[in-house]
Amino acid sequence: MDAPESSSGKLQPQAWMTAPETRKIMAVLNEDGGEARFVGGCVRNALVNRPVLDIDIATPLEPEDVIARLNKHKIAYAPIGLKHGTVTAIVDGRPYEITTLRLDVLTFGRHAEVKFTDDWKTDASRRDFTINTIYATADGDLYDPFGGISDLRNGIVRFVGDPDKRINEDVLRILRFFRFYAHFGRGMPDAAGVKACAMNAKQVSKLSAERIRQEVLKLLAAENCTPTWLLMVNCGIVTHFLPEATNIEALGRLVNLEKRHECPAFPLRRLAALLEITASGLQHVISELKLSNEQAEQLSMMVHPDVSISMRMTEPEVRKLVYQRGNSTAHSLLLLAAARDHDPDALKRLYQTATSFRAPVFPLRGEDVLKMGVEAGPEIGRMLEWVEDWWVGEDFRPDRQACLAKMQAAMG
Ligand code: ATP
Ligand code: MG
Repeated sequence: MDAPESSSGKLQPQAWMTAPETRKIMAVLNEDGGEARFVGGCVRNALVNRPVLDIDIATPLEPEDVIARLNKHKIAYAPIGLKHGTVTAIVDGRPYEITTLRLDVLTFGRHAEVKFTDDWKTDASRRDFTINTIYATADGDLYDPFGGISDLRNGIVRFVGDPDKRINEDVLRILRFFRFYAHFGRGMPDAAGVKACAMNAKQVSKLSAERIRQEVLKLLAAENCTPTWLLMVNCGIVTHFLPEATNIEALGRLVNLEKRHECPAFPLRRLAALLEITASGLQHVISELKLSNEQAEQLSMMVHPDVSISMRMTEPEVRKLVYQRGNSTAHSLLLLAAARDHDPDALKRLYQTATSFRAPVFPLRGEDVLKMGVEAGPEIGRMLEWVEDWWVGEDFRPDRQACLAKMQAAMG
């Protein structure tokens, strides 16, 4: 029998751990001889002071027992993922994914046949990377069966077990490897992991659009996304799921410009920088990633803007852009244009304008035109639009009186 596991240190109390909802769920799982530990992203991120977005909990209790306890304490849950032993408890609107310790017995791509266990190390062995196998009790005692804490501190993303075998159980792990490297890696990536990903690159094309989209957008949110994307291109991986996304130089410049202007990362904008494509190529990317209508619209606007954007724009032109598209779209378009034109200095002034300008409200309305004797109908809209264009062209200076006079003059 294995020696009893010993704690690998202590996680300082975190706001998400001490929150009353979290304490409640852990108390319910820990009572009557139960046991539960935090695991995965929450522990990993907390150890390196990154924000914790969702909380995963592991427990030897079987799902029926978890559900019985939740029912007893009137805690709502959703049986999403029940087949894989996961129950999602919802306390005061906050979800907690509670997963029974398990081993993946047989894997057919993403579809694993599940067998539960009460052994923590067995549960850790089925997880993907050492940094994702760190457990913490409600009080913060850490359990780290595969040296994940040291790997995390050293920026090493390492497969648990043989990388080639783990990838062949679940190809998604190729993209997860690069995603975690982009966020947590430092120095050279783990050679065995890279080799196995490159060898199995072709299989990435089997993944569903949803999974690829999710991983790509998470990867592109990382500060270090550029060298990671280059690595993926060089390993022959990108060509199997997004062959159009190869403008690494533009991505690198965009990330630097975002940093310089303290503009938060926006993964879709970074994707736009990577793409050098025709309209039909863009449609292909949108459908390959199954982007939502809103995302598709945003990406199209950034890849092929329907307005002319360049670093030679005048300030009134930037104000017009902000008026038509809003401040944040103007920021994105300017950042991308500067990244493509390789012109960081010109950007400074234009970006400043796009930040400080607050679009005013056009001072005329339909009723103003009606009062001038125009009959209700499409003509009203056309008149308004005509004066509005003039007002924008005058850099928003004319006031209401001046706009009314312009309208009057146009009507003769
Ligand atoms: P984040 O929530 O920030 O995306 P995470 O590590 O919490 O990161 P999840 O997808 O929430 O990722 O998964 C929770 C944990 O489940 C992981 O940390 C890992 O231990 C395990 N896991 C998730 N997906 C896989 C996979 N495809 N193969 C093996 N283990 C996985
Ligand atoms: Mg998670």
